[in-house]
Amino acid sequence: MSTIPVEEAFQTLEVMEGSFLKWKIFSIKERIEVLKDVKEKLLSDTKKYAEAITADMNKPITQSIAEVKKCAYLCDYYIENAEAFLEPQTVKTKWKESFVTFEPLGVLLGVMPWNFPFWQVFRFVVPNLLSGNTFVVKHASNVPKSALLLEEIFDSKKIDFPVYKNLFLKSDLIKEVIAHPVIKAVSLTGSENTGRSVAEAAGKHLKKCVLELGGSNGYIVCKDANLDLAVTTAVNARMQNAGQSCIAAKRFIIHTSVAESFIAKYKEKIEALKTGDKFDSSTEIGEMAREDLAKELEIQVQKSIEAGAKLICGGKRNGAFYAPTILSDVTEDMPVFKEETFGPVASIITFDDFDEAIAISNRSSFGLGVSVFSTNTELIKSKVPFFEEGAVFINEMVISDPNMPFGGIKNSGYGRELSHFALYEFTNIKSVVIQ
Ligand code: NDP
Repeated sequence: MSTIPVEEAFQTLEVMEGSFLKWKIFSIKERIEVLKDVKEKLLSDTKKYAEAITADMNKPITQSIAEVKKCAYLCDYYIENAEAFLEPQTVKTKWKESFVTFEPLGVLLGVMPWNFPFWQVFRFVVPNLLSGNTFVVKHASNVPKSALLLEEIFDSKKIDFPVYKNLFLKSDLIKEVIAHPVIKAVSLTGSENTGRSVAEAAGKHLKKCVLELGGSNGYIVCKDANLDLAVTTAVNARMQNAGQSCIAAKRFIIHTSVAESFIAKYKEKIEALKTGDKFDSSTEIGEMAREDLAKELEIQVQKSIEAGAKLICGGKRNGAFYAPTILSDVTEDMPVFKEETFGPVASIITFDDFDEAIAISNRSSFGLGVSVFSTNTELIKSKVPFFEEGAVFINEMVISDPNMPFGGIKNSGYGRELSHFALYEFTNIKSVVIQ
């Protein structure tokens, strides 16, 4: 996909500003009608969209289909709830009347990644579209087929102007787009380095940004855990999407007494994952999105082995395919502990005491989420405030769900997507007082 000069991007911004002036006076009911159209397209052409995702970034086709269906589920959630979330809220005060309204900001810029090319975009766009904003989106350069289809999906017959346009721009020009007066705010899902660069440009121009960056989630298995549940859940928690997920479990913090058994059962399950043609519906794990990403992962694993980690299985790369891998005896000075591993590598660390497990989990520069497996849920609930994370999932892998807010702390970024919280990130929350 060829890129455009920044002047062409600026012309698109002016078009989208014109769209915003029309879209913002639509009622929420009218906006929901447009979203219904979007959802219908997802459901009627699921296969076409899924094939584009798979072609772009190698995700096995069944996982791409699931991604498209999840986008439709997200639409349903906001079709059902957005009107109530955006209702003006009356506040009891000393004045005759006082209330709060939620108004759109204008044209928003999305800088989006390749790992879930549809879901990440939907998660950002849908709530903020319903609150009355319009969009320009810079997709990752390795997912052009998905990008083209996304623009088509949001091009609804129910309106005669665009609410969503792609910007096929080189990433070093993004700061010029952020600086442009039409852009009111920016949302990025991507790496920590990109987060720093986008936040710097947004800060310079006093524009709000939401950052969904990396993660190195802990996955704690206590001695009283249902081990079969913990092992089975761990397969998807780490290996789904070839491990390329910010919320994937990456550091497996296992009680010493169950570690051997966990590793044996887990090894058996991940070695049984079926590889093969990415368009074949029986394929369970595929290539990573790009060979350079697999090579980076290979280096992280090799350096960790040199530093004393033990290779239990995997550890082999063939082009962009990286075999499901388990490393045990992982320590905190190793790359697989300190850095995010964005691929199918499970790093095992052991603990004896639960407070030690919390400390190990927190010893990460990231703070996206943690899973804890234990049958003593009351005890774990009492420990929730001690986790430096945006999410704590007990006896479940960390997942994103429209009903629950999504986002991190520390180097995982800031701001929240999904749920009613998403609707307030890019709105002007206006106080109105009448005396
Ligand atoms: P990047 O952060 O480089 O890419 C994400 C998006 O940001 C892409 O659209 C990219 O465009 C754009 N981008 C890159 N550099 C800049 C910049 N300086 N200013 C503005 N936009 C920029 O991620 P990678 O593709 O390089 O993936 C590498 C790592 O990032 C992964 O290993 C993982 O750690 C993390 N990551 C996290 C994700 C998450 O879900 N939180 C998703 C994807 C990656 P372009 O493609 O043109 O470079």
